[in-house]
Amino acid sequence: MNQPQSWEARAETYSLYGFTDMPSVHQRGTVVVTHGEGPYIVDVHGRRYLDANSGLWNMVAGFDHRGLIEAAKAQYDRFPGYHAFFGRMSDQTVMLSEKLVEVSPFESGRVFYTNSGSEANDTMVKMLWFLHAAEGKPQKRKILTRWNAYHGVTAVSASMTGKPYNSVFGLPLPGFIHLTCPHYWRYGEEGETEEQFVARLARELEDTITREGADTIAGFFAEPVMGAGGVIPPAQGYFQAILPILRKHDIPMISDEVICGFGRTGSTWGCLTYDFMPDAIISSKNLTAGFFPMGAVILGPDLAKRVEAAVEAIEEFPHGFTASGHPVGCAIALKAIDVVMNEGLAENVRRLAPRFEAGLQRIADRPNIGEYRGIGFMWALEAVKDKPSKTPFDGNLSVSERIANTCTDLGLICRPLGQSIVLCPPFILTEAQMDEMFEKLEKALDKVF
Ligand code: PLP
Repeated sequence: MNQPQSWEARAETYSLYGFTDMPSVHQRGTVVVTHGEGPYIVDVHGRRYLDANSGLWNMVAGFDHRGLIEAAKAQYDRFPGYHAFFGRMSDQTVMLSEKLVEVSPFESGRVFYTNSGSEANDTMVKMLWFLHAAEGKPQKRKILTRWNAYHGVTAVSASMTGKPYNSVFGLPLPGFIHLTCPHYWRYGEEGETEEQFVARLARELEDTITREGADTIAGFFAEPVMGAGGVIPPAQGYFQAILPILRKHDIPMISDEVICGFGRTGSTWGCLTYDFMPDAIISSKNLTAGFFPMGAVILGPDLAKRVEAAVEAIEEFPHGFTASGHPVGCAIALKAIDVVMNEGLAENVRRLAPRFEAGLQRIADRPNIGEYRGIGFMWALEAVKDKPSKTPFDGNLSVSERIANTCTDLGLICRPLGQSIVLCPPFILTEAQMDEMFEKLEKALDKVF
């Protein structure tokens, strides 16, 4: 058998790519990465790329943060791995649960660990099913989410996700209901004000609950700002309009903070930025600054008490992953929380967010940019063929793929999402690096349009 020689050919021969536009790979090849330096990644040819994608929203402290590396090494030396079951758990797990409840918006709570954000959403759904069944409502099982939401890839979390591509798997599963995406610019109707748009979405929620029956709905999940849907902040007043409806019908509201948590929107939690109180929080990604695969379900006081009672009733919560509460992951998470909150990272996001917005505002003056949107260090530019009518581009290789590919050639990683280009750099980004990001992006836009 002829072995391929280059790194790129080896990657393309033996690896099956996930979430990758294959025409782009065939056209421009794979970037095979050896290491990272601050917010940059370096490929096998020594080329540096400013990663305005933070890996996948998660490498918020950059790729070589010494404190995080030392925390991992120290814990590997002490105790390299263990589970959190059968009446045993590591001291690091104990400390992280205390810390997560302390930094959560809740007065008290409980934490359950997973290996990823998908598993944390999946776990939360199972927890709700378990809880409602224990409370005598086994039929309370349907899950409400929104179109364009992203909650993961397991069969359950992919069913929660509101993206058409999941139909290739025959998903969503029955009982997963998607409501209108709260993106006023795209889904607001002709002549409708933002206030009227929000009122329409609240009515849709109320009508859906009436149609399905509140006693059949287990919970409502939402990202404070939709991430993989294309960075979509909620329409003004959206959460304030829907929360009272959920409360009235005893439907728990879960804030999926896998992207928004720990500083991305400028405060510790997206729910604080948008001023609402959920019943539970889903965390991952930034939780370990991307240095370990880990997720967590953080229950607020009411759900914690009810789940506790349900567990006591059958003497066990029969769920968990081999590496739930892994001590190395917990040690890294403890350090990551400290780094983001106390080493000026969250502060840097708040300080540079206006500069970020000003840069995007300038670019959005271009005739083929329909909208810029975002908050903190998560932003998107939406490309349009015709600005006044907001008509999207068409064609096989989407315009956002072409922009992102051109950026990669220029040494900038950004993410094409639908018709949008997403920028979500690490929190350590300096002003000069932000300028470099905009300079390269503008050069790419000049080439594509
Ligand atoms: N929830 C949100 C909001 C996400 O953005 C993601 C991943 O991007 C997930 C859940 C799934 O997390 P993971 O990829 O770790 O399974």
